[in-house]
Amino acid sequence: MSYYDKEFYEFHDDDSADSCFLCSQNSSQLFVVRHITSEKMVHLCKDCMLNNLSEYLLDNTRPWTSKKD
Ligand SMILES: [Zn+2]
Repeated sequence: MSYYDKEFYEFHDDDSADSCFLCSQNSSQLFVVRHITSEKMVHLCKDCMLNNLSEYLLDNTRPWTSKKD
C-alpha cells in the first residue's frame, strides 16, 4: 500500500473532528494521532495523548496537499 493512499488516513468510525476520541472533551487543541491497535486516525486532546502514549502514535507522514507538482 502506498503512503499516499487515502485509506491510509482513514479516521476511526467513532472519531469526531471537534472533540477528543477518548474523553469527548471539546478542546480547541486537538491532535490527530494514529490508534495503533486499529491503525485508524483519531483526534485526541493533549491530556489524553500524554496519558496514552503507548497506544497512540503521532503520524507525520501525511502528504503536503498544498505542494502538488
Ligand atoms: Zn481527551
